[in-house]
Amino acid sequence: MLQDKDRIFTNLYGYQSWHLDAARARGAWDNTKALLELGQDTIIDRIKASGLRGRGGAGFPTGMKWSFMPKNPTPERPSFLVINADESEPGSCKDREIIRHDPHLLIEGALVAGFAMRARAAYIYIRGEYIREAETLFAAVAEAYAAGLLGKNACGSGYDFDVFVHRGAGAYICGEETAMIESLEGKKGQPRLKPPFPAGAGLYGCPTTVNNVESIAVAPTILRRSPEWFASFGNENNKGTKLFQISGHVEKPCVVEESMSISFRELIEKHCGGIRGGWDNLLAVIPGGSSVPLVPAAQIMDCAMDFDGLKAVGSGLGTAAVIVMDKSTDIVRAISRLSYFYKHESCGQCTPCREGTGWMWRVMERLRTGDADISEIDTLQQVTKQVEGHTICALGDAAAWPIQGLIKHFRPEMERRINERRSGGLETMQEAAE
Ligand code: SF4
Repeated sequence: MLQDKDRIFTNLYGYQSWHLDAARARGAWDNTKALLELGQDTIIDRIKASGLRGRGGAGFPTGMKWSFMPKNPTPERPSFLVINADESEPGSCKDREIIRHDPHLLIEGALVAGFAMRARAAYIYIRGEYIREAETLFAAVAEAYAAGLLGKNACGSGYDFDVFVHRGAGAYICGEETAMIESLEGKKGQPRLKPPFPAGAGLYGCPTTVNNVESIAVAPTILRRSPEWFASFGNENNKGTKLFQISGHVEKPCVVEESMSISFRELIEKHCGGIRGGWDNLLAVIPGGSSVPLVPAAQIMDCAMDFDGLKAVGSGLGTAAVIVMDKSTDIVRAISRLSYFYKHESCGQCTPCREGTGWMWRVMERLRTGDADISEIDTLQQVTKQVEGHTICALGDAAAWPIQGLIKHFRPEMERRINERRSGGLETMQEAAE
C-alpha cells in the first residue's frame, strides 16, 4: 500500500486550505524557478524517464507527447497547452478533487509543463457543472498572479506565461481533445478529423498539447522527487501513483491515491472496506469509467489495476473510475442506461455514431424488458462492430464497448429475460438471485 510520505496529493480530502499559503506549506511552488532552470529538454527527459502515462484515459506517454511540440515557436504562431478538466466520464471524479482542494498543484504543473513545451499560455477547460471548482480555480490563478508566480517573468524565471480558465457548457464530447479546442475557439464542440493532430495544428491553428489535470498536477513533484522515485511504483510500463475513484457497491466509496498496479482486491479491501455483502456478492466491475467494457467478478479480483493488467482481461484502465456492481445490479439495465448516455452525448457529426447510438440504445431497452428476439443479440453485436472504429472520435467506441462486454459476459442473462418474457413472467436479476 502506498505510504503517506509518497503521496503527491496531500490535501485530496480538503482537510487543509487550498489557498496559496497552505499549498506552499505542503510543498507546492517551492523554488519553481529552479525547476524551470533545468531547461526544456531536461524536464521532458525526466518526465519520460518517470514513465508517466496520460491520466485522462488513453495512457499515452506524457513526456513523449510534450516532445512533439515545436522547438522554435514564433510570436506569430505560438504554442499552447490545453488542460482537460472537462471530466464528464460517468464514474470519474478525481480531477474535481484536485481542483477543489489542491488547485495550486495543477497551476504550478501548468507552468512547468507549458515551459517544457515552450508554450505561451495554458488554457484550463473546466466542465460547466463544476461551478464551485471553477470558482476555486479562478481564485487560485489570481493568487498565483498576485504572487508573481504567473504572468510576466513567472517565478522570476524570465519566462512569460499566462493561465486562462475557461468554463465549458456541459457537453461530454468537449472532453475529446479536438472538440475541446473547437469549443475554446468559440465554436460548437465537435471533434475534428485527425490528422492534423493538435501538436501540428491545434488551438487557433497553432501547435497545442492537450493533457489531463492529473497528468499535469503530478509533474512538479516528479521533477522535485526524481523520476526514479515515481517509477518505483507500479509494474513495467505502468509506473507511478494514480488516483482511483471507486464508486458503487463497496462499503466506503472513495477517491484515493494508490500505487499503480495494485490488485483490485487490495484496493477495495484497504480503502473501501470491502464489497457490500462480501466478495461472493460481487457481480462485475467497470474498471475505468463507463466507456470501458465490464469485467466479471472472477476475472477482476486479482487483476493488476493498470493499463496492461486490465487490457489482459479485455477492458482498460481509462480514468481509473472503478464502478463496482454487486449481485443486486440489473446488469442489462445498467448498460442500457450507459447506452442512453452515449446516445444523448453524440455530437451527431458522423452517421455510425449519430444513428448507431440511438439504435443500440433502443435495442438495449427491449433486451432489458425481454421484449426482443434472441437473434437480435447477434445483430446488436454486429452493429457495435460497425460503429466501433468507424467514427471521427472515440465516442463511437465508447458506446460500443460496454455493450460488447455485456454480450460477452452476460449473454445467458440476456437470453433468460427473452425466454421468460415469452413464457409469461420476467424476473429481474435481483429476484432471480434471491
Ligand atoms: Fe460526434 Fe459521435 Fe462522430 Fe464523435 S463519433 S464526432 S461524438 S458523431
